[in-house]
Amino acid sequence: MPLAFRYAVFGQPIAHSLSPRIHAMFGAQLGIDIDYRAIEASYDDFAASLVQFAEDGGRGANVTLPLKQEALAVCGGVSERARRCASVNTLIREGDMWRGDSTDGVGWLRDLRTRCAFDPAGRSCLLIGAGGAARAIAFALADAGAKSLSITNRTFARGDVLAQAVDTLVRSNTIAWDELDSADAFDLVINATAAGHARVALDLPDTLVSPATLAYDLSYGEAAGAFLLWARTRGARACDGLGMLVEQAAESFAIWHGAKPDTAPVYDALRARTTARDGD
Ligand code: NAP
Repeated sequence: MPLAFRYAVFGQPIAHSLSPRIHAMFGAQLGIDIDYRAIEASYDDFAASLVQFAEDGGRGANVTLPLKQEALAVCGGVSERARRCASVNTLIREGDMWRGDSTDGVGWLRDLRTRCAFDPAGRSCLLIGAGGAARAIAFALADAGAKSLSITNRTFARGDVLAQAVDTLVRSNTIAWDELDSADAFDLVINATAAGHARVALDLPDTLVSPATLAYDLSYGEAAGAFLLWARTRGARACDGLGMLVEQAAESFAIWHGAKPDTAPVYDALRARTTARDGD
């Protein structure tokens, strides 16, 4: 009997992932039978786990925290957008190899422009973080015509490497965390760190935001709570990353299945379950 095609999201931790539910809803909407599950994998066992997944009929996978830069190494080929941001969140089985793509940037931009009603063109932006997702966001902001991009990261050197990588596309600089209090308010402040998952509240100066600022946290639920509260308390508008999650998933789904789902009902269904915790 032929193997059923399988899809999965790899990461650690992964038990909280909404991706299996999102892909099941997309499949139901388009009449496509989906076998999509969450697979826990660390840096050490990711490559072996992916080999087993392919042997078991794996045709496509998403990759999340903390494996997006690891995923690049397992690919026999990558899309141009994944190559330049050195981050892979979507794997596609082609023959006996994996091809990598990155749908984070395009998914995030769509959520920013539609649900958050914010166009980054001509705007000053502060990106907090320099991991896999932050790299995708930095290139998306450059493509969208941001006026300037400042990057701050716990590990300064990693932020600096990213600022240099995008510098030919958008005017960019790196700000040391302990020098953030010398910066003026930004139009857009993005939290692309994983701090919220560790229940760590970022120590950020009030001066980074004003009532004209949009603050966006890539995470959602409890992990986004402290940053959203910090921004709203200072009068800024704030959005969490639930919409990005649905939009980047829709892009992956379209790559695998050749059909683009309607994200609105899926977003609404998930939002109805998370509103109380997110407070928006
Ligand atoms: P990653 O590659 O592991 O990068 C993690 C980033 O967080 C690094 O910049 C790291 O700084 C920083 N960081 C971790 N702990 C910190 C702390 N306690 N204080 C300050 N900075 C800290 O992870 P990723 O894949 O980019 O994901 C980053 C976040 O985006 C996660 O919250 C993830 O859930 C979220 N995300 C959401 C979506 C969505 O669809 N909504 C998509 C992608 C990612 P160092 O460089 O110093 O280690």
